[in-house]
Amino acid sequence: MNIILLGPPGAGKGTQARRLVAERGMIQLSTGDMLRAARKSGSEMGRRVAEVMDRGDLVTDEIVIGLIEERLKDDHGAGFIFDGFPRTLAQADALGELLARLGQKLACVIEMQVDDEALVARIVARSTCAQCGEGYNDIAKPIPADGKCEKCGGTQFIRRADDNEESLKQRLMEYYKKTSPLIGYYYCKGKLCPVDGLADIDEVAASIAALLDQKAG
Ligand code: AMP
Repeated sequence: MNIILLGPPGAGKGTQARRLVAERGMIQLSTGDMLRAARKSGSEMGRRVAEVMDRGDLVTDEIVIGLIEERLKDDHGAGFIFDGFPRTLAQADALGELLARLGQKLACVIEMQVDDEALVARIVARSTCAQCGEGYNDIAKPIPADGKCEKCGGTQFIRRADDNEESLKQRLMEYYKKTSPLIGYYYCKGKLCPVDGLADIDEVAASIAALLDQKAG
């Protein structure tokens, strides 16, 4: 079953995607993670996108569609979770075509609804374990008192370069201008499934699980 997690930065897409990977054997395709990996590798493409990402702008459709196309050729396990993709109408059309070409369907688009103030508060408070990528949040899920990651015991925690107020404002602006039209797009296709992204992590996960079970049944 292939699904999209749709929502503004900080809505909890990555957190929920990682749970679906662990609990259902689905494959997370996060264009943000792929782009960060490209930057880290020092590739030509990574160098080209670095500045764009740090500013909070979207990278070109051509680049991200190419990244997704490459990964769709891999084994898809119990289905793909598109996390942070598509982010524009052109990307949504391209995804539809790629899936159709592979004879695959999109089961649903989970729209994670959150309000802007909660997003800003969440994003400036978040960090991840440098070793395993487990996410933490100073308010909702603080780093354990012993300073060790609860998942892998790692002791280094990092904050994303673009998780600062200035680039966050730009990321939100990009979301409202270019990504939020996808809500109407998928509504018209009968694929939109809204969930309350402000509930706590387990509750959001339970809402998503109920939706997926319903689609599968
Ligand atoms: P994310 O980790 O999903 O918040 O993405 C981090 C940054 O990567 C975004 O602010 C964009 O600069 C870039 N990015 C990730 N996914 C896309 C996409 N589908 N289209 C364009 N830019 C993207």
